[in-house]
Amino acid sequence: MPRLAIYPGSFDPLTNGHLSLIQRGLKIFDGLVVAVANNAAKKALFSLEERKQFIRSAVGTDPRVEVDHFETLLVDYAKKRKIHTVLRGLRAVSDFEYEFQLANMNSKLDPDFESVFVMTGQDYFYVTGSLVREVASYGGDVSGLVPGIVAEGLRKKFPPSSR
Ligand code: ADP
Repeated sequence: MPRLAIYPGSFDPLTNGHLSLIQRGLKIFDGLVVAVANNAAKKALFSLEERKQFIRSAVGTDPRVEVDHFETLLVDYAKKRKIHTVLRGLRAVSDFEYEFQLANMNSKLDPDFESVFVMTGQDYFYVTGSLVREVASYGGDVSGLVPGIVAEGLRKKFPPSSR
């Protein structure tokens, strides 16, 4: 049986930090389902389809990576997919508290649920989706922090005329 994990997140937008986690996750698991959280209560900068498309383009044709989305509780999505392991990244101590709460809540909701944490490489530990959005909104250069196609998408969202 191949060992699979779900890698969930908002991916608004995909960053090189996410990509690095996908690559490192593939050293542990045979395959990953990158699952974009479509949370109606949280207004995302990029649409669900845009966020999925960025991931598909950046990952290319690697058959070990599937791109999907979910709108329910993560544990319910995991049950539906019959994949009970989730991959998450830890950037800094600040991520730890929230991730610790989330992992315990998810285990409480589903005792079969397991969370696997991978620590960020030093290149991208400071990269977050929200920081990338903020820098790009002021016209800052985010190339090098996000894949080219995302940098292009951000330039279109924040043309110089919008500033
Ligand atoms: P964010 O907006 O904070 O980047 P996401 O919800 O898209 O958040 O993140 C999904 C998962 O990816 C989380 O486990 C998060 O810790 C991890 N992650 C996000 N950015 C990085 C990064 N730069 N390096 C490693 N893991 C990351």
